[in-house]
Amino acid sequence: MSKTIFIYAESREGKLRQVAKETLGAAQIIAKEGDTICAFVAGSQITEAVSAILPYGADQVVAMEHADLTHYNPDAYFAAIKVALDQTKPDIVLLGHTAIGRDLAPQVAAYLRAGQISDVTEIDNEDGEAIFTRPLYAGKAFEKRVFESTPAVVTIRPNNIKPAELSETAAPSSVIDIAYPAPSLRTVIKDVVSKATGKIDLTEAKVVISGGRGVKSEEGFKPLEELADLLGGAVGASRGACDAGYCDYSLQIGQTGKVVTPEIYIACGISGAIQHLAGMSQSKVIIAINKDPEAPIFKVADYGIVGDLFEVVPLLTEEFRKVLV
Ligand code: FAD
Repeated sequence: MSKTIFIYAESREGKLRQVAKETLGAAQIIAKEGDTICAFVAGSQITEAVSAILPYGADQVVAMEHADLTHYNPDAYFAAIKVALDQTKPDIVLLGHTAIGRDLAPQVAAYLRAGQISDVTEIDNEDGEAIFTRPLYAGKAFEKRVFESTPAVVTIRPNNIKPAELSETAAPSSVIDIAYPAPSLRTVIKDVVSKATGKIDLTEAKVVISGGRGVKSEEGFKPLEELADLLGGAVGASRGACDAGYCDYSLQIGQTGKVVTPEIYIACGISGAIQHLAGMSQSKVIIAINKDPEAPIFKVADYGIVGDLFEVVPLLTEEFRKVLV
């Protein structure tokens, strides 16, 4: 029997997020011939996001535009997605394991009376059965789960599932505009004061250069920022660095911070406490720079440099500049 796979194609400020293409990629792994993939785009200005998802091979794009959807508001977004779910009657719903996806997914699962598998990092399709892998105990173990029944809800961790590719052969998706149900909202957002600098989102960055207490000051983050800018990456931090006031808590990576899985993670002056590893140990390549050869970070590092970060980081920047600029 054919099924309908519904993805929430997340956008922010009118722009499609990379995780939307990864969520669509996840749907394409699960789908078999005859299944329908439906992408839901919501926001206050969605023309650009809808156009951006169209060539990636979804069968349908369900679009909803309303001023209430400018910023994420649980009441508004849940009311919006409910209309899309009622219309498409999906068997499987996929969302990014992002701040929005983590809030919305349990509401969707409760509404559909569905089972949920969260924070999925890998999906295998074995003879039509989707097998979802997710990390446990801060990445120390993995479990594989399957659904015994549908509907089913899944959240996927950003930067792990291969994104959908531009499809030259597939027919372009059909776009269905649906009306916002205008629910009464229990809270409204009056204003958003963004701390973001317009730089790359830490959770979506392909390269993360992180500083710890070894960076010693706010000024000490400058060489890390320079290297991150050169590599098109983002700067992160340990809680040690945040607690010491060297940087903002929005940069914290770890158990009580952000979880990142970039292609390259460079840890500078970070000891490698278990709570920090919880947020970065799934990175594809880990490079550690620490002057203590016994620092635990070297146990998870693919490459280790024993040395003073204030010497090593500028040297790396200089060498990368020679090949990149
Ligand atoms: P330190 O442990 O002090 O390490 C500094 C390192 O820098 C040392 O290894 C030192 O050799 C090296 N160093 C110093 N100078 C230089 C230099 N010039 N060049 C090179 N290396 C140098 N931590 C997180 O990171 N994220 C979390 O989300 C988090 N959540 C937590 C939750 C709980 C409930 C608890 C109890 C703790 C949590 N922590 C978290 C804190 C964690 O336990 C560690 O205290 C913290 O990660 C240490 O930060 P650090 O590695 O920067 O500092």
